[in-house]
Amino acid sequence: MTPFEYAHPRSEAEAVELMNEPGTSTAVLAGGTDLIRLLRRDLVTPQRVVNIKDIPSMQGIKPVDGGVMIGALTTLEDLAASPLMSEYHSLHHVLDGIRAIQIQSSGTVAGDLCHLPNCWYFRNGYGLLGMENGESLVETGDNRYHAIFGNRGPAKFVSASRFAPGMIAGQARVRVVGPKPDAEEWLPLEYFYITPKTNAQGVTVLKPGQLITHVWLPGTDTAQGKVQSSTYEVLQLEGLDWPLASAAVSMVVQSGVVQDARIVLGHVAPVPWISHEASRTIIGRRVTEETAAAAGEAAVASATPLSNNGYKVQLARTCVKRALLRAAGQETGGL
Ligand SMILES: Cc1cc2nc3c(=O)[nH]c(=O)nc-3n(C[C@H](O)[C@H](O)[C@H](O)COP(=O)(O)OP(=O)(O)OC[C@H]3O[C@@H](n4cnc5c(N)ncnc54)[C@H](O)[C@@H]3O)c2cc1C
Repeated sequence: MTPFEYAHPRSEAEAVELMNEPGTSTAVLAGGTDLIRLLRRDLVTPQRVVNIKDIPSMQGIKPVDGGVMIGALTTLEDLAASPLMSEYHSLHHVLDGIRAIQIQSSGTVAGDLCHLPNCWYFRNGYGLLGMENGESLVETGDNRYHAIFGNRGPAKFVSASRFAPGMIAGQARVRVVGPKPDAEEWLPLEYFYITPKTNAQGVTVLKPGQLITHVWLPGTDTAQGKVQSSTYEVLQLEGLDWPLASAAVSMVVQSGVVQDARIVLGHVAPVPWISHEASRTIIGRRVTEETAAAAGEAAVASATPLSNNGYKVQLARTCVKRALLRAAGQETGGL
């Protein structure tokens, strides 16, 4: 591990200052469940690690503007336990699938949103794009867990965040501060992720010296009715595992007919993949086995699988179907 300086700010302003000293590269440490692994393997080599875990303003969940304001440092455990989160079913479906007490008690919401890809080429030192001598190792190598959408450019990894699909479907916004001392912006989460063209670009719009302090989710009561949401993830293991594919749905149903729907796939593209095609297919219809299957079909119509991951097309199709049925309260046993 490359040596680094350690800083422990107690306020957002102090954190931003410590992250913006000219000539000093920094990394943000929250729960550390992933950052420590990245540091150990020299996959990130900051000159300073800024531990934000003890900044009070970034903790906890409170009601704000009809929705909920979630501090970036909220742990998965606290998210699961909060009565304010009880109507956000899609996030609970994700939490139910993270079956490791250590991760639940240490992992944070923003740590999940900013989690770097689990791509094995990246994790073995070949950069975000998994290149060697100018050639994509992913293209010709083992790409069974890689992207089936948005993979025509050099980035072929999949976005790792498990909460992002449900939060994007639920129209979440993130509060970003820095790099200037008073700089603050609220950004729709759907514009937070990018598909890099170079290894240096990263996977989000965050610039050096910026961090997420809060996530805001709108309330679940709308003029058209209550928002019904769900996430459906396909995991290989019963224990700690990353999904092979997932889909999140947020929809409003009136008199049995879908008025509005947002459908976002996870772990199938370098960014959380918003499927307007699937939404268009289900809006104006009742959710049934047939219409949900049609939405799943629409979602994967433009998939571009790589040499070893064609199976993920079927998983993505099924995730959309199952997430819709789950959101509509029609979950049944098999696929
Ligand atoms: C061995 C192991 C296996 C795991 N397996 C799984 C798994 O199978 N499934 C699963 O869902 N999770 C898994 N995790 C958990 C995973 O690390 C989670 O994504 C967790 O929520 C990350 O939160 P953290 O606070 O620990 O993040 P950290 O490790 O502290 O940070 C993660 C990344 O986010 C950045 N970051 C953190 N907070 C902010 C912020 N406020 N603003 C800007 N950037 C920020 C960091 O700089 C870093 O790049 C695993 C963890 C470990 C250690």
